[in-house]
Amino acid sequence: MGLDGAWARAWLETSAAVVAEHRVELITLDRAIGDGDHGENLDRGFQAALAKAGDLAPDTTPADVLKLIATTLISTVGGAAGPLFGTAYLKAAGAVAGSDDLDADAVVTLLTAARDGIVLRGKAEPGDKTMIDAWTPAVDAAAAARDAGAGPAAVLVAAAAAAEGGAIATDPLVARKGRASYLGERAIGHRDPGAASTALLLRAAADVAGE
Ligand code: ADP
Ligand code: MG
Ligand code: MG
Repeated sequence: MGLDGAWARAWLETSAAVVAEHRVELITLDRAIGDGDHGENLDRGFQAALAKAGDLAPDTTPADVLKLIATTLISTVGGAAGPLFGTAYLKAAGAVAGSDDLDADAVVTLLTAARDGIVLRGKAEPGDKTMIDAWTPAVDAAAAARDAGAGPAAVLVAAAAAAEGGAIATDPLVARKGRASYLGERAIGHRDPGAASTALLLRAAADVAGE
């Protein structure tokens, strides 16, 4: 499908379903190196956003949907991830405002703005064992795919695959941001929950675009 308002709405629906499906898995990851609430936090946020999706106009734009997700996550999800993902979606919305159908360039712009928003807010660098370790390879892979002539759906597929690889690559890292940073070397061998959820959300975007 084209990456229009219907795609963004479907991305929201699939995100909510995927987060619900992986809720326990995300809780388990966060229990190992955090406080065990990541799956519950995100599930609550996406269910709340899904409940508001009916308010969207039939001719909604991707930016409208992203903004709805952002404001809902910011208002309903506490902890670190609520404001961080909220900022990501808010910056993504701003970056594609006015566009009805995202091309490959716009997808790269969206992902870059999301990642930059998280960095602005959380000040994490690559290798700190955070969601940035999924977002940054996703942005880089998206840009590379765009440069190689990929269309918007294929750019999302590249981003999702890179986010999945980035999440796996957090396993051996020591955390330098967030709750997991209190654990020192004990965080080694555990995947960062926010990187794992980022990969799920970007895979949902790609899956919906490929339908
Ligand atoms: P909390 O740690 O407050 O319980 P969550 O469990 O919902 O919040 O989210 C934890 C995730 O947030 C981590 O796995 C990590 O990916 C992300 N995170 C925490 N701090 C930062 C930060 N400063 N920058 C980027 N991501 C962060
Ligand atoms: Mg937590
Ligand atoms: Mg918490």
